Amino acid sequence: MLFYDYTLEMLENYFSQRGENKAKAKILFKTIYRNGLSLDDITELSEKTRKMIDGDFSFELPSEAALQDDGETAKALLKLSDGNMVETVLMRHGYNTGVCVSTQVGCAMGCSFCQSGRLKKKRNLTAGEIVSQVIYMSKRFGDIGHISVMGIGEPLDNFENVKAFMEIAASPYGLSFGGRHITLSTCGVVPYIKRLGEIKCGFNLAVSLHSADNEVRSEIMPVNRRWRIDELIKTVKEYSEKNRQRIAFEYILIDKLNDTAEQAEKLAALVKDMNCFVNLIPYNATDNSQYKRSENADAFFDILKKHGVNAIFRREFGGSIKAACGQLCAECAEYGQ
Ligand code: SAH
Repeated sequence: MLFYDYTLEMLENYFSQRGENKAKAKILFKTIYRNGLSLDDITELSEKTRKMIDGDFSFELPSEAALQDDGETAKALLKLSDGNMVETVLMRHGYNTGVCVSTQVGCAMGCSFCQSGRLKKKRNLTAGEIVSQVIYMSKRFGDIGHISVMGIGEPLDNFENVKAFMEIAASPYGLSFGGRHITLSTCGVVPYIKRLGEIKCGFNLAVSLHSADNEVRSEIMPVNRRWRIDELIKTVKEYSEKNRQRIAFEYILIDKLNDTAEQAEKLAALVKDMNCFVNLIPYNATDNSQYKRSENADAFFDILKKHGVNAIFRREFGGSIKAACGQLCAECAEYGQ
């Protein structure tokens, strides 16, 4: 069993079922996650207990198959225990360092502007495989201040494992990030947005919107053919109001597709009464050469502002090493595949 797959509650059950004091779970969690030490360092546990844990659990991290670093952004290709590969990104913001984790091997969502969307989904990552990306990055590069659940895959297409990951990441006994330092991004899998309240840590929610027009959104995001914009917005609004949370709507500006004045007006009308802001993202190049960066970004921004909608431009990271939003792939030519 992979240790990092276990939430604190699961580990408490593990000890209870073996007739041991469940308080040992907290000791183990703190030592491994908070203090970054190993099983041998836990003097508070008897040799017998340590042997049992050692026999039952693996603490192995994924191995580094490749690493690129442009000084600001680092991208690691990590090999999982079954040989599958994922990518994980480190972003040095200046004020702190963030890590962007993948949640699936491949992705089933098929968004036309996204490199990961051109992959097939091979399988979900386990909670521990997501946790271990964070541990790998912090062992390799030091302190991490923020986790973005925005790498390869759709987190809400892997809800149970992502939920367990979030618990471990936020727990003060676990990776200790607290929800405020975790952001999850979804393309809009409505049934699981309805269940997000089960994740109690108060994380930030980002929703990839990319158009306020069903026709355009369905063309570029197949998920919209299943759950249309009205239903998505209604669900997100309910979540936001219930949890008093400000939502980030992500919006990639693509030339002449979703960056016109008309599209900006539609977006403003859609979100202006919500507790939200719009995160405007420059389009990053993928193999799909039909798309280009917008030249209308400032005018688009001004229309949102005119309607009182908060908007910011997302800072660009990692374009030179194909580590920017939408460029992750893990099966690309850069690795000779
Ligand atoms: N599946 C999740 C998280 C992964 S993508 C989601 O869809 O939200 C993280 C963000 O990068 C999303 O907002 C996604 O739409 C955006 N993105 C995808 N391709 C992009 C591209 N080529 N340029 C800029 N951003 C892109």
